[in-house]
Amino acid sequence: MATYKEFHARSVREPEAFWAEQATMIDWHRPFDKVLDYSKPPFRSWYVGGLTNLCHNAVDRHLAARGNQKALVWVSTEVEQEKSWTFTELHEEVNRFAAILQSLGVGKGDRVLIYMPMIPEAVFAMLATVRIGAVHSVVFGGFAAASLAARIDDATPKVMVTADAGARGGRSIPLKPLVDESIQLAKTPPRHVVIVNRGLDKGFATVAGRDLDYAALREKHSGAKVPVTWLESNEPSYILYTSGTTGKPKGVQRDTGGYCVALAASMKHIYCSKPGEAYFSTSDIGWVVGHSYIVYGPLINGSTTIMFEGLPIRPDPGIWWKIVADYKVTSMFSSPTAIRVLKKQDPAFMKKHDTSSLKYLFLAGEPLDEPTARWVDEALGVPIIDNYWQTETGWPMLSACPGVEDTPRKFGSPSFPVYGYNVTLKEEATGREAKADEKGVLCVIPPLPPGAMTTVWGDDERYVKTYYGLFRDQLVYSTFDWAVRDSDGYYFVLGRTDDVINVAGHRLGTREIEEAVQAHSNIAEVAVVGVADSLKGQVPVAFAVAKDSSSVATKELAAAQEKAVMATVDRELGAIARPARVHFVSALPKTRSGKLLRRSIQALCEGRDPGDLTTIEDPTALEQIRAALKG
Ligand code: AMP
Repeated sequence: MATYKEFHARSVREPEAFWAEQATMIDWHRPFDKVLDYSKPPFRSWYVGGLTNLCHNAVDRHLAARGNQKALVWVSTEVEQEKSWTFTELHEEVNRFAAILQSLGVGKGDRVLIYMPMIPEAVFAMLATVRIGAVHSVVFGGFAAASLAARIDDATPKVMVTADAGARGGRSIPLKPLVDESIQLAKTPPRHVVIVNRGLDKGFATVAGRDLDYAALREKHSGAKVPVTWLESNEPSYILYTSGTTGKPKGVQRDTGGYCVALAASMKHIYCSKPGEAYFSTSDIGWVVGHSYIVYGPLINGSTTIMFEGLPIRPDPGIWWKIVADYKVTSMFSSPTAIRVLKKQDPAFMKKHDTSSLKYLFLAGEPLDEPTARWVDEALGVPIIDNYWQTETGWPMLSACPGVEDTPRKFGSPSFPVYGYNVTLKEEATGREAKADEKGVLCVIPPLPPGAMTTVWGDDERYVKTYYGLFRDQLVYSTFDWAVRDSDGYYFVLGRTDDVINVAGHRLGTREIEEAVQAHSNIAEVAVVGVADSLKGQVPVAFAVAKDSSSVATKELAAAQEKAVMATVDRELGAIARPARVHFVSALPKTRSGKLLRRSIQALCEGRDPGDLTTIEDPTALEQIRAALKG
């Protein structure tokens, strides 16, 4: 067996030969003519001319060999249900859903917006969409109506799929009213809304002709067979919106063939999941991990994928380990925040269940701190593998690859560049390669490997400007993360270079939150910063200037305004973006040219030195931040 170092080196030295070999892991309806077309950098096309389909590879391909094997297991501790679907049953459901979408006029290239809780119908909807060559855009169920409306206007879906409600901590959370509101706000509303009625929100309103009941449609399309629509490898499979430095989220566009190959290869080389084994990712389908490692990756691999609706501590903190024991999970994927939550609980809950089937625990989405890594390593007794990646990359970019070689791991490091990624660390000012132990911007020399984003939906220029604009004289993809590489070649990720923050593994733009705060009529100005938090990694904290200063003149009044601002953010963006605190000040620290000194504010919040303040316009503004934090 090749060492990992050789494996990686070959992947960047001979990308065509390397990725042609990986491509044999999936079915092609028509073989590709060319592995890689890189004639228009930084755009690249993988597997040019090849015809394939994600749904075929995730479902149909397995019917002959594993039709009776469980494909999807759904465990909901919210509604106390546990159900499973074999590949044959999943095929049936997906065909019915595909027939529903076709009956509503959805065809190749059309968009379907999926705004759903963690229920199996969300998976059916995703697979059905790609089956017919349409493009899905899954929006996390925690986003509010205005965010949803912005995504509707950007993706212009023909159909939306939703549910009456989600559930969290035993409480139902209505979704349909938010859909109605978003459609009112949107300039390009969808023609139809398909509603999975779970009976959680009795009496939700419907719009005749537009809103359709999923159960009735499903009944109507019983036994439907919908042939797969074969797509050229580079045709889009989905759009997934993610936050950046501007208020407008970017639609990360994914292709079909390259993504399918990248996921199939990662299941073998990174996740070590064998077909037939159970794979459990605790993420949500609204995030990239949910797309790649709840739905597509495990199913393409012929694994049993486990979808969980609930909290990790309900009914008790042993629930995830019970699932591992019940389904003999071999590979599990979660986030550092979730493990920090479990770390606070009685360890007896972990020991209560037989987790001996587990071979690996993968953690991703945010920095994995050493104490958390050590704790879970000792508690579970399996290798803990830190994965670093982004919505943009679609699959890990830095990780150990135990399926290739069991390289030693260092706590706090996601190990090495993953095969296919020609990673480079750049000194920000000069573009020079950073030396060992020197901080640099984590970049990738293009072409990006299969599976990584192809462009920003509808905006090639934004794609090039945003991701490749770091240096004038060098074409490199920037991750916007700082990192260092030690003398053994291990990478350590140090945080973002931009104003993006990471709350419990969820990426949020401070600009986006500031715009949401400003939607409150009494806010003149606001600065939002990400502040270190022992549980969630970071939390947003806002400093606002009220238009009417008398409205925040006393502690009680300020507290009432703080509540009102938080409610505005809930309404505009969703509760995940709600600032942990809203402090009122009469001026914000800015440079003389009017730029907010977010870094200095953040430093003060974290008890650090605010740094170079020679350009500050009004030093008393910083004093106000200090005073607000004390008060
Ligand atoms: P998202 O696109 O929402 O998955 O967020 C991606 C961002 O999360 C990255 O750019 C990093 O800032 C952060 N991130 C993801 N995984 C890790 C990790 N393993 N270690 C440190 N930061 C991470």
